[in-house]
Amino acid sequence: NREIHLASRPQGWPTADNFRLVETEVPTPGPGQLVVRNRFMSVDPYMRGRMNDVKSYVPPFALDAPLDGGAVGEVVAGEADGFAPGDVVLHGLGWREYALVDARGARKVDPDLAPVSAYLSVLGMTGLTAYAGLLDVAAMKPGEAVFVSGAAGAVGSMVGQIAKLRGASRVVGSAGSPAKVERLRALGFDAAFDYHDGPVRDQLRAAAPDGVDVYFDNVGGEHLEAAIGAMKLHGRAAICGMIAQYNATEPPAAPRNLALLIGKRLTLRGFLVGDHGHLREQFVQEMAGWLRDGRISYDETVVDGIERAPEAFLGMLRGENLGKMLVRL
Ligand code: NDP
Repeated sequence: NREIHLASRPQGWPTADNFRLVETEVPTPGPGQLVVRNRFMSVDPYMRGRMNDVKSYVPPFALDAPLDGGAVGEVVAGEADGFAPGDVVLHGLGWREYALVDARGARKVDPDLAPVSAYLSVLGMTGLTAYAGLLDVAAMKPGEAVFVSGAAGAVGSMVGQIAKLRGASRVVGSAGSPAKVERLRALGFDAAFDYHDGPVRDQLRAAAPDGVDVYFDNVGGEHLEAAIGAMKLHGRAAICGMIAQYNATEPPAAPRNLALLIGKRLTLRGFLVGDHGHLREQFVQEMAGWLRDGRISYDETVVDGIERAPEAFLGMLRGENLGKMLVRL
């Protein structure tokens, strides 16, 4: 069994030296435990925050111990009610080839309904984040105009497509490369731009001259400032993530225009997907239907091998992924 440990805490951008590949024995299960051979693991932006030794909504990763996070794999040993060898399960012990999972922390998934990687992407946590943030937190209604940043990523690409399927009048996305912008147009976004091509404020104004009702924020900083400027009266923003500042060593300068919240009666609301579990059933049903009918597309960028998991994580932070970044084990 091979696993990745946190060797040191990054200052600013992480580097390969912050991680260590460690060989261990394949674990032996006790009562109520399962040994899972992981097939896919997720690398996610929130993991960067867990590498800092600060109090947050999830505890920090420990030094010299395996990292963890979403993973899917098959049960190879262990006895627990409702599970049998060969079952495919979703659980929270990624960053290792073999996981010793408490059965209460594992959920069986149906490998016939979708490829198992989908339970870490379109049908998983990032898909639910998009669904809950757009429809519950920002309460998007048909006929509204939507702007989403980080639009070619796992969450953002779902936000834009769900908005269209739920009747948005106009969907605008921003992303970090010409290829991503092209992909967004193919996914049905009405307009898309590369935020490297000029000030976000100017590009957003050109893409949504009448303004937007809803902003789904994955990025923060200059994007959030531009969105506040573009939001219409009674606009709502779902504050999902601020990836532009996760590796920053200084607090961000923007947004500088918060006074606009008053006159425009704007609502900016942060949220965590973990608080929206009650939507999971409805989300899976609706998303599975869209997938079956070919009305939604999802991208996955797959890196092979546990030894390359740190590289996949760093690549995701740098924007090398289209859709969900995953590691195949
Ligand atoms: P993505 O698949 O979107 O991957 C991250 C992307 O961020 C990269 O591909 C890159 O794309 C973009 N990015 C990196 N740096 C910058 C920057 N400085 N400015 C603009 N874009 C940048 O990740 P996820 O879909 O998993 O997550 C998206 C956001 O949602 C993150 O902020 C994350 O923290 C948040 N999140 C929040 C949850 C919650 O419960 N609140 C749950 C899940 C995710 P590009 O090439 O376009 O720059």
